Amino acid sequence: MFIAMVTPECAPVAKVGGLGDVVFGLTRELEIRGNSVEIILPKYDCMRYDHIWGLQKDMEDLWVPWYGGAIHCSVWFGFVHGRKCFFIEPHSKDNFFNRGVYYGCNDDVMRYAFFSKASLEFLLKSGKRPDVIHCHDWQTGLVPVMLYEMYKHGGLANQRVCYTIHNFMHQGVTGADVLWATGLGRPDYYFHYDRLRDNFNASAINLMKGGIVYSNFVTTVSPKHAWEARFTDQGCGLGHTLHTHAGKFGGILNGLDYEMWNPAIDKLIPSNYDIATIDKKFANKDALRNRLWIRQDYSPLIAYVGRLDSQKGVDLVRHAIYYSINNGAQFVLLGSSPDPAINRMFWQVKHHLNDNQDCHLELGYNEELAHLIYAGADMIIVPSNFEPCGLTQLIGLKYGTVPIVRAVGGLADTIFDKDFAHDKPLNERNGFVFHQADFKAVEYTLGRAIRLWYDYPDHFRNLMINGMNYDFSWNYPGQHYLGVYEYIRHKG
Ligand code: ADP
Repeated sequence: MFIAMVTPECAPVAKVGGLGDVVFGLTRELEIRGNSVEIILPKYDCMRYDHIWGLQKDMEDLWVPWYGGAIHCSVWFGFVHGRKCFFIEPHSKDNFFNRGVYYGCNDDVMRYAFFSKASLEFLLKSGKRPDVIHCHDWQTGLVPVMLYEMYKHGGLANQRVCYTIHNFMHQGVTGADVLWATGLGRPDYYFHYDRLRDNFNASAINLMKGGIVYSNFVTTVSPKHAWEARFTDQGCGLGHTLHTHAGKFGGILNGLDYEMWNPAIDKLIPSNYDIATIDKKFANKDALRNRLWIRQDYSPLIAYVGRLDSQKGVDLVRHAIYYSINNGAQFVLLGSSPDPAINRMFWQVKHHLNDNQDCHLELGYNEELAHLIYAGADMIIVPSNFEPCGLTQLIGLKYGTVPIVRAVGGLADTIFDKDFAHDKPLNERNGFVFHQADFKAVEYTLGRAIRLWYDYPDHFRNLMINGMNYDFSWNYPGQHYLGVYEYIRHKG
């Protein structure tokens, strides 16, 4: 099968969060299974160009219709760790992708509407005819809309679309302008409730809703989150749309790329290990402490790695830092936040704890340090308010770093409490779980974890091994996505 991934991110070349990891890992798995996959991305100025091999121009002149005229683009091709990637570079004074950042610009909606249009135009003009176009998140919500309403008539008649929602919080809610820019026009038609009209703002259209309505199949990234999105406020207003399209909506748990995330072969950590050589993990703990100026001591090291976003339960993260260092544990945080208020809050904590030898906060994005933290820490905390899937707990499991999580979304689908998961045999329990999003729940659960580490080291070790034994690779989800592709190809 020939699959085109149209995506704003792909790890490690253009990664902000889990979406990037998913696109890379799923693509690799699909290729191993004999499919041809091509990834289409914007050519950002701030990408990691050191991860692209053989970058060269593939198409000199791609003219993408935009408003009344057209924008001249070039399309580049390069391999990203073996994956075939095409990068779209517009030459216009809008400078859509030369902003030094991936997201957070005032015209994000226009930037990605343009990218969606350019991707379809590229497929059309280059003669590529994928069986399936797999789109991701609000940024590409207009791809199935334009495919069905415009490009179907121009030569892309047999392409089917699978649309994956990684995060319902950002939906691309905007005005009619984007319809004129892309050539869709006809506001009366698209502002219909059954099409793109936002469910709560009658004078706005919603690109993610368009993606849901027009795609042949819609997935989100865990079965629990598929339920939450339909039946709770976690659908962020799209619950009714998902109900209407329930027949083509489901949850597929993300996999983890064990080529990239595997302590046995990870080149970014000083001491490789697996279950049989688990004691070698502790050399990484030493290295991590040395690197971050944390004192060597007989105590557990707890970590947080992730975006510092309201979604991630930042108040609980901050509370966990103070609780840990006041209760015999050490804490390491690696995170960055585009939100100035959250950023300020963590800079304050960092200054406050500047001289504390049991704690280090690294505020920024650092892929290499993330690997060392997963390998060196004893536990990883993920206290999210909502979490569609979550990768950090899966990485923790693989690295023998015991997850402490809140039971939402993919966290609930993958982590089973050592003491309370009564439906699981002891050797399948792999972490600590709490339910309420409050300080008491965090304290109680961290307390249980820290006590187990001190009082029952053998039990703690078993928990580490149980986690490492889990298989959350792309093997099963890859098969599942192929099933979806086959289904939409043959359903007519
Ligand atoms: P989300 O997609 O909501 O950001 P996930 O848990 O699905 O969360 O994925 C997070 C991914 O991003 C993981 O691979 C994690 O290691 C990585 N990551 C997040 N923040 C940072 C950071 N500051 N430095 C390095 N890696 C990070």
